[in-house]
Amino acid sequence: MKIVLDDIMREKHKVALGGHVRPDGDCVGSCMGLYLYLKEQYPEVETDLYLEEVPEAFDIIEATDEVKTQINESDVYDLFICLDCGDAQRLGFSRPLFERAGETFCIDHHISNDAFADHNYIVPDASSTSELVFTLLDAGKISRSAAEALYMGIAHDTGVFQYSCTSPETMEIAAELMRKGIDSNRIIEKTYYEKTYIQNQILGRALLESMLIMDKKCIVSVIRKHSMEFFQAKPSDLEGIVSQLRQTKGVEVAIFLHEIAPQKFKVSLRSKEQIDVSEIAQYYGGGGHVRAAGVIMEGSSHDVINNITARIALQMKPESEQDVPS
Ligand code: 5GP
Ligand code: MN
Repeated sequence: MKIVLDDIMREKHKVALGGHVRPDGDCVGSCMGLYLYLKEQYPEVETDLYLEEVPEAFDIIEATDEVKTQINESDVYDLFICLDCGDAQRLGFSRPLFERAGETFCIDHHISNDAFADHNYIVPDASSTSELVFTLLDAGKISRSAAEALYMGIAHDTGVFQYSCTSPETMEIAAELMRKGIDSNRIIEKTYYEKTYIQNQILGRALLESMLIMDKKCIVSVIRKHSMEFFQAKPSDLEGIVSQLRQTKGVEVAIFLHEIAPQKFKVSLRSKEQIDVSEIAQYYGGGGHVRAAGVIMEGSSHDVINNITARIALQMKPESEQDVPS
């Protein structure tokens, strides 16, 4: 059944929006795009957006200073719209608002999403949640500010229109957004390519210490807590490292480990064309997309790498050699 935004918004007085923990370009883009549109088109509705701290580079998007980073125990919303989140747990601090809301709506493109809201608009083939948000809106009513946010989201999740998730529809939507008069070059330059000195230093460290494994089909790198402290880097400064690792010639999978606590790692996985990294992330309790996924794993870095590579090896085996469950 086709989802119509007017139907979802009917008789709603208080609406909250929320995205995933450690918000990335698509999460911020889709949330800000929808937030600005709702503020403009449904001015009678009280709309709030909840996100963890928005990375500084995204400040060029209008109204990011209105984002709420904490919830109030007394807040109850008629509707909670969850964006770019594969499961309710990924909402992080805003999850209680989702649980308490009169109605819930999820807009997402993660293949691992099991439709956990009352209404779900989940299209795993879509390039980004920002692209999905666009399809829900009346294109003629999208303002330049909302267009900037959505364009940023699409550009980020497609690796600037490079990854295989970029479809002709993605390009058509990007073109429509460009026609709103946005400065598309600046958005890409400022939010995607420009790096702080610290970000480049930690990227350099990750590249220097990377290793090729599994007959050079995989590249792996680990950034430990003491390196983060040494460079005074924030977790969001690590964005883009795994994509850079993936670009290594001859490599099929890139594995990037970020030590978040002793014996605990945030694992980012990227593949080129063969390995389904979403399956691997889901196996260990995470999620994501076929070519980009993530999971938090416990143990030593060697344990984590061994466990991940064991699953990669399984996929690399010809089907005839795989263990058949009895
Ligand atoms: P990244 O490696 O950039 O953190 O994430 C890659 C993709 O996997 C993103 O689409 C992200 O939403 C998803 N992802 C990353 N970590 C997790 C996780 O711990 N759980 C789930 N369900 N998805 C994740
Ligand atoms: Mn996304």
